[in-house]
Amino acid sequence: MSLPATYLDGLNPEQRRAVEHGVGAGPCPPLLVIAGAGSGKTNTLAHRVAHLVVNGADPHRILLMTFSRRAAAEMTRRVERIARRVMGDGARGGYGALSWAGTFHGIGARLLREHAERIGLDPAFTIHDREDSADLMNLVRHDLGFSKTESRFPAKATCLSIYSRCVNAGLPLDQVLGANYPWCAGWAAELKQLFAGYVDAKQRHNVLDYDDLLLYWAQTMTEPALADEIGSRFDHVMVDEYQDTNALQASILLGLKPEGRGLTVVGDDAQSIYSFRAATVRNILDFPKAFSPPARIVTLDRNYRSTQAILGAANGVIDLAAERFTKNLWTDRAIGARPQLVGVRDEADQARYIVERVLEHRESGTTLKQQAVLFRTSSHSAPLELELTRRNIPFVKFGGLKFLDAAHVKDMLALLRFVQNPRDRVAGFRVMLLIPGIGPASAQKALDAISAAADPLAALANVPSPPRAGADWRDFIDAVRELRDGVAGWPAEIERARLWYEPHLDRIHDDVATRRADLVQLAQIASGYPSRERFLTELTLDPPDATSDQAGVPLLDEDYLILSTIHSAKGQEWKSVFVLNVVDGCMPSDLGTGTSAEIEEERRLLYVAMTRARDDLHLVVPQRFFTHGQNAMGDRHVYAARSRFIPDRLLTLFERVSWPHVAPSTAGYPTRQAPPIDIGARMRGMWR
Ligand code: ATP
Ligand code: MG
Repeated sequence: MSLPATYLDGLNPEQRRAVEHGVGAGPCPPLLVIAGAGSGKTNTLAHRVAHLVVNGADPHRILLMTFSRRAAAEMTRRVERIARRVMGDGARGGYGALSWAGTFHGIGARLLREHAERIGLDPAFTIHDREDSADLMNLVRHDLGFSKTESRFPAKATCLSIYSRCVNAGLPLDQVLGANYPWCAGWAAELKQLFAGYVDAKQRHNVLDYDDLLLYWAQTMTEPALADEIGSRFDHVMVDEYQDTNALQASILLGLKPEGRGLTVVGDDAQSIYSFRAATVRNILDFPKAFSPPARIVTLDRNYRSTQAILGAANGVIDLAAERFTKNLWTDRAIGARPQLVGVRDEADQARYIVERVLEHRESGTTLKQQAVLFRTSSHSAPLELELTRRNIPFVKFGGLKFLDAAHVKDMLALLRFVQNPRDRVAGFRVMLLIPGIGPASAQKALDAISAAADPLAALANVPSPPRAGADWRDFIDAVRELRDGVAGWPAEIERARLWYEPHLDRIHDDVATRRADLVQLAQIASGYPSRERFLTELTLDPPDATSDQAGVPLLDEDYLILSTIHSAKGQEWKSVFVLNVVDGCMPSDLGTGTSAEIEEERRLLYVAMTRARDDLHLVVPQRFFTHGQNAMGDRHVYAARSRFIPDRLLTLFERVSWPHVAPSTAGYPTRQAPPIDIGARMRGMWR
């Protein structure tokens, strides 16, 4: 039966080649789509999945991995839409409903749980987010006696970053220290011991951290029988944003599809921005050679997203890159207005400028949701958040503080995690310390007592009540028992957990009203998941973002402005885009070690930011900005110069504006000025 293929008509010939590659014609050799921003890579991938499904592929045997769960959901929606349009309502039940779409980490967690027993894991394992991981690192560090105050040992977060880089890049500690953490090189022996202890603790506690999800998965794929079993579940494996995967992820793909048949990856080397997580652009460049027969390569060079003026400026910025493989893009969209390079005095003016423009746009019909403000680092948006709150403009912030980071939400989740996996010591500690009269010593004693038991929660009932805890301890035991026995069932058990937690919440915090509201939200979110385990796993891997209410998930039917780190804006587009702090020190950031590889990555970051805009782009350049104690001089204002990624010779590509409109002598373009020297801070630093 020939099917109407109208959905293919809108594609250009290269996109169509990628969509139709190997469909229906026996084995399907590997495919690489490598192309610049906005050239339709994601769109092509979605069409390819739909086209496969329409031509008989089983959507339950397609594995689709994207950079965020949001991106996976969006892609699934598009596939379903196309499949339904072509196949009618019959498509609703099965066609296009992908059951394996998500992030590498999310898919990894699911597969590991399914195969847990065969790889020596307890399927009840819980997952530690970065903060839990850092806490565990800290526990181990204390046990080993590497106390920071005494020895200036690297901070727990630094230890975790070093560990994570070793694991993800598959590099020995010495090499990682030498290349990325030279100031920690003197601690190599202690760090080795610490990491060994950390790995040991994770296993005893039956927890996996983010990195483990990839590491265990990659290890599983080195077992031929398991690799075969897992690989044969999927006829097609698709990966978007392949430039931001690391060596472990490449090895997982190789394990899933050793011949490369049915494997499609798409990406853009000019947008590679995750090397701090050991992502490597080599993955995409080596992909064609990794298989025999070699992968088919499709390149796309037409941009459909941005006006000519915006694309021209973005091309100008990326043209100055030291090394790149994808070609310059072209578009036949209208020329449009040149992107604005806006000079403002400071971050307060920057915030006011943006609010004014955003409201103007809204007046002329561009909703808030069609506008986004992007920044290098989450803290850069603080002055803007204040201004938006003051002016009553709702916003949602991506990539910053998460709903789950709030202490009270973490407390509730810790209780559920402890019930799920009583050996999760970080969770156990957290809940027990909420009980009045329980300090670290009694918590430790109780956790030690139950950790060896076959049924730790049953053993908990036999732990004698710590002398000062009395009735509160018994309340805790009761709550845990009921939760364990599933008396209320999921998701109602959240209410049981809340019943136990709220008196503690009231005792610990002053602003209980908003916090209680958050817990109601949490219960609502929970009701969207089929089980406690899925809820905990998925929330930890991809937590909802914070909103202007500081609480809860965004109300989807409301209009709100998007605030996002550039990293979290990957793959998305808006009609209007504002980029904050386009100054040296922010872009490129002065946090790195300043190697040329790092500077190049910062350039790509600005390119990613600029290419998010469809019609209207503003790069804002404050003359002064505030640093947040990230360098030796602590918090202070510094004078800034326009980012070096926009040198004078590119200025003709921009429209230069200063705001507010004041005399050019004070509001002219910031020039390079030496930052003030804070001698006082230096003096204080000498005694630290
Ligand atoms: P990025 O590199 O930022 O991830 P991308 O290459 O994945 O971008 P898409 O997001 O898929 O690009 O597409 C960019 C925009 O171009 C989208 O709005 C998409 O709908 C549109 N687009 C893609 N292909 C076509 C086409 N053939 N005709 C019209 N519009 C298209
Ligand atoms: Mg994309």
